[in-house]
This record gives sequence, structure tokens and C-alpha cells, in this order.
Amino acid sequence: MTTEPITLRELRDIPVERLKGVGEKKQAALGEMGITSVLDLITNYPRRWVDRTNEARVSDLEAGREALVLVTVRSVTKRTMRNRRTMVEVQVGDGSGRMHVVFFNQPWRERQLREGLQIVLFGKAEVYRGGLQMTNPIVDLIGDRTGRIVAIYPQSEKVQLSTWEIAGWVENALDRCAARGFGDPLPASIRNEFGLIDRTVAMRQIHLPETIGEKEQARRRLAFDELFRVQAVLVMRKRAFEREQRGIRHETDSELVRRFYAQLPYELTGAQQRAIGEIEVDLRGPHPMHRLLQGDVGSGKTVVAVSAMLCAVQGGHQGALMAPTEVLAEQHATGVRRLLDSLRVPDPDNLFGERALNVQLLTNRISGQERRDVMAGLADGTVDIIIGTHALIQDAVAFHSLGVVVVDEQHRFGVEQRAALRTKGAGDVVPDVLVMTATPIPRTAAMTVYGDLDVSVLDELPPGRTPIVTHWANGQLMELAAWSDVRGAVGEGRQAYVVCPLIDESEKLEVASAQETFERLMHQDLKGLRIGLLHGRMASAEKEQVMNAFRAVELDVLVATTVIEVGVDVPNATVMVILDADRFGIAQLHQLRGRVGRGQHASLCWLVTGELEDTNPRIEALVATTNGFELAEVDLDLRGEGTLMNTMQKGRSDLKLASLRRDRELVGLARQAAFAIIDADPLLAAHPLVLDEVRLLLSAEDEEFLFKS
Ligand code: ADP
Ligand code: MG
Repeated sequence: MTTEPITLRELRDIPVERLKGVGEKKQAALGEMGITSVLDLITNYPRRWVDRTNEARVSDLEAGREALVLVTVRSVTKRTMRNRRTMVEVQVGDGSGRMHVVFFNQPWRERQLREGLQIVLFGKAEVYRGGLQMTNPIVDLIGDRTGRIVAIYPQSEKVQLSTWEIAGWVENALDRCAARGFGDPLPASIRNEFGLIDRTVAMRQIHLPETIGEKEQARRRLAFDELFRVQAVLVMRKRAFEREQRGIRHETDSELVRRFYAQLPYELTGAQQRAIGEIEVDLRGPHPMHRLLQGDVGSGKTVVAVSAMLCAVQGGHQGALMAPTEVLAEQHATGVRRLLDSLRVPDPDNLFGERALNVQLLTNRISGQERRDVMAGLADGTVDIIIGTHALIQDAVAFHSLGVVVVDEQHRFGVEQRAALRTKGAGDVVPDVLVMTATPIPRTAAMTVYGDLDVSVLDELPPGRTPIVTHWANGQLMELAAWSDVRGAVGEGRQAYVVCPLIDESEKLEVASAQETFERLMHQDLKGLRIGLLHGRMASAEKEQVMNAFRAVELDVLVATTVIEVGVDVPNATVMVILDADRFGIAQLHQLRGRVGRGQHASLCWLVTGELEDTNPRIEALVATTNGFELAEVDLDLRGEGTLMNTMQKGRSDLKLASLRRDRELVGLARQAAFAIIDADPLLAAHPLVLDEVRLLLSAEDEEFLFKS
């Protein structure tokens, strides 16, 4: 028999039914919860720990507050009421007091809650007939578990497993692992440096802590392990790209790029220069670039993207800019064409040795002969820069030689879509990829979601902007102040946007409500002003017409749905009114607000809501700051990482203990550890346990990529 420490892989290969007390029925119930192996079981961590000695006493309960109590069942009775509803009444108590609990329509509680049973209740206590009562609380059975701290496991009432059964099996599994101990993939040096306890100790303490402090230490270690595995994969992928992929060595100090800078109507900001510098280093290098450009709305990402694409064009390659929507692609096309208006590119086939730079748009709206022409131009290289939507990565689109790809990731392109682009280069050459996002994400989240990318940040706005002042119009009375500001601005020759309520469920309803808002403003609050309407169901030409009229100041106010969220750039517009602002997320409000404050005039944003009684942390955050990076941190705090993690590949999403929000410090440490280990030992030859655990989490495809040598 081996005495080597036990590995996660070994535990994954031991089915749960090998444990004492897990028969066919329990096995099936565990299976329902996604637990089939001993590894699944011991990483099914408690969701709560209750300290019997100093919390959860009945005497501490306060009426109207949610709380948790650990109590013993004293008596149970069931009644069937008229209308055949059932009510189970339970008397519970502890040394400090008694309480009454009622369950409606849960007849099975009568069988579940027997006299003498210890249970944990979570719910809101109310005063009822002079005593405390909880109605339909959450119940955890803890059976006869002893010890000061009681671990409570996630459980499903449907499958009828109690937290004490799970705890018993976990303890049994841990006891059987005790002789060999768990293999620890982390070198002692890193554990010491980061203050992490040993894995064997951690595994026991997370399930069977003697104190809450022990549980915390264990959580820190095991959360680190989860984050470290993710970072190890990302860092290995990054290094593998650098090792394996052949890119184009672009010439960055070219005539074309020089001409481009020379004809810009402004100086680049320091941040733009820094980002362009970082990008140029990547472009000159032998490996393809994989870089994320984060910059707030209006920070000037477009120029940076265009300069990268021009480096490709100068060398006879092509640039592509992909946007998440057709409207955005169209707007990018207009903006980029404006920037590149007078530029000419070298062309040996031409009598004059050069020709006009050819920028084309490719979306699903472009069809027939026009589409065939663009496709032909892409294939023979006469199209220099192509701007489009996802349509660009369809298989049918062939490039002559795609050199630089810019992905505008407003709503986040998936990793797979980025990967598809990499197959569009010539031969086995991989194009350079720049991902832009106008929704800054917190540093720790960027490290995880985009951990295989390098990051450049535009943290400086072009000069001459006056910061936007934001107000919250809480209720109708204050809304009047917003309309009065709109009139004031228009009186001074400025313009305003009014963003209509967001209706997620249906574009049709949203359009109807926009129409309604438009009518109302026209006849009431903004009577006499020149008002236009813009929404997603209008034909392109019609939209274009309205936008042109607004740009030409033939309209004072533009009433719009969120189609104006991105891209629209009218420096003379200085007031933004967002209706039903509490329906929008932080990132979206920030995007919308970014449509004003683009010129030299002072700008205002009004966030209008129906009268809210409570404070609204999202709206307050927007009132407090215009810094997108700060807002991103608040957003992460408020929403948690769910939405972020959804965008990640499977396998990376199995953070069970770790949270990007709570564990910001650990994310950084885990990344640091991953770099230290992998850079010294790229294929992890000297770290077999790290290698094994990383492989355990990888898809076959990833594995092939990372480990082919
Ligand atoms: P983003 O895409 O980051 O939101 P844009 O690239 O659309 O920002 O630029 C916003 C506005 O700022 C545009 O009107 C652009 O012409 C202008 N701009 C960009 N860079 C500068 C600069 N260095 N100085 C002055 N204006 C700039
Ligand atoms: Mg832009």
C-alpha cells in the first residue's frame, strides 16, 4: 500500500458509494446534487458555520430582523385548514428561550421535525401573540453533531439529505485520508511567503473547525488553491501563445502611421501615447499580440485602435475592427473613415505608387453585389481596413492577410470568438489581437476573465473636458428640475438627450414607451422645443436622418432608447436625462452618461426615478463619481461576480469558495505564484501536483494546446 500523500485525482476516482453509509439511495441523492466522487464530496464545502457558544440564541433574536438560531424541537403539530391548506406548528427552544415556528403548505415538515431534533433556523422573527414566531424559515437539520462549530452544508430538500448526513460522510472521508494526508501542490516557500496553511490541515479545518478563526484560515488556503489553478491555466496559456504562435513582425515606425499622427487635429494624451507604445512593442515582436485596452467612455480608444491597424496596413496586411452590434459597427465605420479621410497607402501597382486607403463596412445588412465586392476586396487585399460585426468571423470570409484585429468588446466577446479570429491569418501566421472595452472591469476581475491577455489602460481623458455633474431626480417634483435644465441648456444653444425606460422583455414595448415619452415631452414638459425620436426599430436611413439632424443642431432634444448607448458623439449635447434610471445597471448608466461631456461646455446628467423610499446604491455611486474604474469596483461589490464569471470558459467557473469580490488580495497573490512557478518551470516538470490539478480542470482541447511541445 502506498504512503504517498493522496492526490485530488485519486479522490476523483473514488466513487462516493465506497463510503460507509452511502448505499444506493443515498448515492442517487448525492448524484442529484452533482456529487459522485469523494473529491466532489469534500469540495462540497459548508455554506455556513454556526458557533454554538456565542451566537444563534433565541434570546438574541430581534423582531423584524433576519437571523439564525440553533434550537431543539419541543413539539410538532399539523393542522389542515379550510381550503385544504396545511399548517405545521413547531415549538422550539434553547437554554435562553422558546419560539413558535409555523410552516404553511409544507405538510412533510411534520415527519421531518421530530421532538428532540437539533435544527438551525434562518428567517425573520416577528412578534405574534406576545411571543416570537418565524414563518416558513429555512431549516437545516444538524442531527447529533457535536463540537463548538457546526458546519452547515448546501442541501436540497427535494433529495432529502440532511446536513448531518453529509457532514458524517465528509468526516469519514477525511478520516480515511488522514494517514496519507493530502498532497500539497504549493511549494513551502510560497506557502510561507503568503501565509497559507498546509492543505491537509485546511481540508479538515474547513469542515471541522474548532474555532471560526480556524475556518477562516482554511478558507483562505482553499480559496487560494482555486484561484491559483485558474491563474496557472491562464498563465500557461499566455506563455504557450508566446512560445508557439508565429505572428507578423510589423513595422511600427512607418510613413503611413507618421502621416496619420501628423494629420490628427489634436495631440495624443499621455495615456494614449503609453498605450500605443505598449501595443507597438507587441506588434514589432515575433509573437502575436493579445492585449486588452481598457478605457473609460471618451478616453479616445478609437485613435489607438486605428493606429494599430495602420501598422498592419503599412506592411501590406489588413486590419479588422469587430463591434458587437450593427449600429456600433456603422458608427465605427463613420468615425474611422473620418479619421483616415485623407490618408494614402503605398501601392506599387499604381502609377503614383500609392492609392487611397480603403475602409469598408461588412454587416448582415450589406448584401448582394455590394457584399460580394467587399468579400472579393478582402480576399485580394484591396480592402485595407474592414469594420463589421460577428459576421466577420464567419467561415466564408477570407482575408488576403489579416494582420491586426481589434475587438470592441462593449458587451464582451467570448473567448471562443476571439479564438476563431486567430485562424484568419495567412498560413499559420496568427494576427495580432487588441480587445477594447469601455466598461472598465476591476483589476482582479480583469486578471481572471482576461488573465491570458496583457492589459493597457487609458486612465486619462483628453484635455478640455469639464466633468459631468450628476443629479438624482427622485420623484416627479425633482423631475421638473431636470426638464428646466434641459430648457436652460437649449436656451444657451446646447442640446440634450432623453433616454427612455429600458424594457428588457420586449423591444416592441420599449419602442412604444419611447413613442409615449416623445409625445409627452413634446406636448408638456418640453413643449416648443425641437424634439426628435430615435429607436431600434427604425430603418437605418431613418435613424441616420434623425442623427444628422441632431448633429446639425436642427433638433434640440433627442429622445432615444438605449440605441444611443455607445458611439454617438455630439459635443454640443450637454444634458443627459435618463428616465427610470433604476432599471439600468451601473455600467450601462455610465455608458449612457458618457454621451455628454464630450465638448468644452459643462455637462449635466439627470438620473430620474419614480419616488424611491430607500437609497439606491447604484444611482448614488453614479452621482458620486464619473470614474469608470471606481464604478466598476462598486458594481462588483453590489452584483458579485456572477455575471462576470458567466463569460468565462467552463472549468474556470468552478470557484466554490473563492470570490473575486471578497478575495481581491488572493487573486493577485495567486497570479504572482502562477508566474513564479511557471516561468521557472514552463511545463511544470518539477511540480507534478500542480500539473496534475491543472489537467484535472482542463478541457481536452486546452490540454492539447498547452502541452503539445
Ligand atoms: P472612446 O472610444 O474611448 O469612448 P473615442 O475614441 O470615441 O473614445 O474618443 C472620444 C472623443 O475624443 C472623440 O471625439 C475623439 O475625437 C476625441 N479625442 C480622442 N483623443 C483625443 C485627444 N488626444 N485630444 C482631444 N480629443 C481627443
Ligand atoms: Mg469609441
